[in-house]
Amino acid sequence: MVEEKVMRGKRASVKRAWLGAFMIVLMSAWLSGCGMLQEWNSIGLTGGAVVSGASPEPTITEETANEAEPEVQPPQESPDPVPTQPAKAHEGKLVALTFDDGPDNNYTLKILDILKENDVKATFFLVGTQVRKYPETAKRIVEEGHSVGNHSWSHSDLTKLSAKALSEQIDKAQKEIIKATGVTPSLMRAPYGAISGSVLKTVHLSGMQHVAWTVDTKDWAGSSVAAMHKNVMTNTKEGGVILMHSFGGRKNSLDHTVKLLPSIIKDLKAKGYELVTVDEMVASGHYRTSVIK
Ligand SMILES: [Zn+2]
Repeated sequence: MVEEKVMRGKRASVKRAWLGAFMIVLMSAWLSGCGMLQEWNSIGLTGGAVVSGASPEPTITEETANEAEPEVQPPQESPDPVPTQPAKAHEGKLVALTFDDGPDNNYTLKILDILKENDVKATFFLVGTQVRKYPETAKRIVEEGHSVGNHSWSHSDLTKLSAKALSEQIDKAQKEIIKATGVTPSLMRAPYGAISGSVLKTVHLSGMQHVAWTVDTKDWAGSSVAAMHKNVMTNTKEGGVILMHSFGGRKNSLDHTVKLLPSIIKDLKAKGYELVTVDEMVASGHYRTSVIK
């Protein structure tokens, strides 16, 4: 009898132990379920399908790369021209003149006049706040056959911004450019050329390619016309992208840009270069993938 009682007691305690274990399993399953829910919520809140809460960067990198890369044509990337017809050796030697930070109602207008006189098309990377101030100049740029690119809303260093602020800088400028010109830019140049992986991804997700440069005239700093001319003529190669400005810089520095422009147009043409917009350069396939990505 005593033995039976002990046995019953033992069975009861074994039962309790199993019940306890079962409850623990049940609780931990429930808790991990909550964890998963939280993770899903955070993904949803931070931007839907593309942005992952745990590791936003790598996810976008791959998807962006897949989206944006097909347009880039690496086989065309050749530092030296390889003409198919020796008689037309100069054909396809494309160079793009680019002007940042405008529009305004002074230098941009003078530059447009010179481009028109010389029948040359260029690319203007516009700052959103400037477009808001001078929509008519922005419109004139497009009407005269030039390309417009996005140069951010207020010329911030995009690498120092949160994902949200970064998107705002790009989207707000894009909307202002569309409003003023009716054109949706397919090109972006980050202020200072400062890009990071996430800046580049955001640019690509916004449907644009990023355009750096191969020759920096440093016109904003007041470089002399002679120094800039020598720099451009020495360092411009096929697929070159020349950086100048149509607004800003040190006091009167862009007077030098206006003086420089007719001479580099003349001398680059004399060397067999065809001056095109960056859009045309991309469309031709003759561009440097290290510069336009
Ligand atoms: Zn700039």
